[in-house]
Amino acid sequence: MVIPSLIQHKRDGNALEPEDWKRLIREYTDGRVPDYQMSALLMAIVFRGLSSAELGALTDAMIASGDRLRFDQIDRPVADKHSTGGIGDKVSLLLAPMVASCGVAVPMMSGRGLGHTGGTLDKLESIPGFRTNLSLREAEAQVQRIGCAMLGQTPEIAPADKRLYALRDVTGTVESIPLISASIMSKKLAEGLNGLVLDVKTGSGAFMPETSQAIELARTMIGLGHDRGCPTVALLTAMDRPLGRSCGNALEVEEAIQGLRGEGPEDLMEVTYALGVEMLLLVGAAASPAEARGKLEGSVSSGGALETLARIIEAQGGDPRVLDNPEILPQADEVEVFRARRDGVVTGIEPRRIGRAIIELGGGRRMIEDAIDPAVGFVIPVKPGDAVVEGEPLASVFARDPEGINRAMTALSEAITIGESGRLTPLITHRVTADGLTSF
Ligand code: URA
Repeated sequence: MVIPSLIQHKRDGNALEPEDWKRLIREYTDGRVPDYQMSALLMAIVFRGLSSAELGALTDAMIASGDRLRFDQIDRPVADKHSTGGIGDKVSLLLAPMVASCGVAVPMMSGRGLGHTGGTLDKLESIPGFRTNLSLREAEAQVQRIGCAMLGQTPEIAPADKRLYALRDVTGTVESIPLISASIMSKKLAEGLNGLVLDVKTGSGAFMPETSQAIELARTMIGLGHDRGCPTVALLTAMDRPLGRSCGNALEVEEAIQGLRGEGPEDLMEVTYALGVEMLLLVGAAASPAEARGKLEGSVSSGGALETLARIIEAQGGDPRVLDNPEILPQADEVEVFRARRDGVVTGIEPRRIGRAIIELGGGRRMIEDAIDPAVGFVIPVKPGDAVVEGEPLASVFARDPEGINRAMTALSEAITIGESGRLTPLITHRVTADGLTSF
C-alpha cells in the first residue's frame, strides 16, 4: 500500500475507497503502517472529514480488526452505554452495576483518558488489583455469571481502536465527528448488543462543545448503529462544568461508590438514572420510563447494585474491600484547600482547565507510554450559580508533591470564576433517536 498517496488524497479533500480503509486498518493493526503516517492521515481526517461511505468502511474495518463478544446463549437482553468524554464523568462505574442488577447484561468496553478527559479504564485500575484486560471468553463468561464485565480493548476486541485511540490522545486528533463516531461505535458494535445508549456531552469541556455539533455527532453514531442492527439512542448532557464533585481517577471511584450507596451528588445521579432509563427501555427491560426509574432506584436502595459492583471487582482481581474502606485506594501525599478570593456567585467552572490540570498533576497522559498517578485530582463541591463568600472552601486539591499543589491552585484560580451573577445550565438538554430529536 502506498500510504503517502492515500494521505495526500485525503489531505486534498478526496474520498478513499472502502477497500483502502479496509487494507489501511488491517495493515496498521498488524504494525505495517507506522504511527507517524497514521497521525498524518488522522490530521487530514480532522480537517477534511469523511463521507458517510468512508465512515461506514472505516468503522467496519475497525470492528473487523478483532473478534466480537457473543451472547447467543444468554437469557437476558444485552445493553451498554458510552460517553463521548468529559471531566468527572464516572457514570459508567455506577450505571453498569445498576443496570446489571436490573436484569440486563452489560459487557462494558471502555477507554482510557483521552485528550483532557478521563477514562473509565484508568479509574477502574485505581482499585488495587483490578484487571481490565479480560480475554473475550473471560468477559463473556463473566457477563453470563454476574451480568456485567468492565473491560478494555485487547488484541482480540477492536484492537484498531485501541491503537488509534492512544495515538489520537497525543496527536491533537480527538476532536473529529467521524473519528469519535468510528472509535465509539467500533468498540460498541463488537459487543454483541441489543441496544446502545450514548451520552453525548456538550459545552466547553466536550470534544464537540456546540449543541449543533453534539447533535450531529449523536446522529452520526445512531446512524452507524442503526445500519448495523444495533438500536441506538443518545442523550445530550452538560459538560460546561465537571459532573459530580470529584475529578481524578481514585477520587472518582470513591464518589461512584458513594453514589451506589445512595449518597451521590444530584447531577451525577440524575445523568446516571436518565441513561439507565434509556437502557432499560431500549431492550424492553421496562415498559415505561417510570418503571425503569423505579427499578434503577430500587437497585441502589436495596444494595443490589453495590453488591453487583463487589462481584465485578472480585471477578476482575480487584479488592472488593474498597467498597467499605475507600482509604485502600491510592492516596495523595499532599492535600490542600482552595478558597474563594472574594464574595460573589460562581460564574463558571471550566472543565477543560480542570482536565488539563489533572494531566499536569500526573493523573493523565502526555505520551502514549506515560504511567498515571491515580491519586491526584480535585474535589469541587460548588457549582455555577452558587453564592460564595471570601475565604469559603471551594475545592480540595490532591497532589503528589507541593509543586503539584501550586500548579493545581493556579489551575483552579483560572478555572473557577466568581462574579456578580451566574447560573447552572440544564443538565440534560436533548434526546436523539433514529426517529428524531426532542429538546427538553
Ligand atoms: N470515547 C471513545 O471511545 N472514543 C472517542 O473518540 C471519544 C470518546
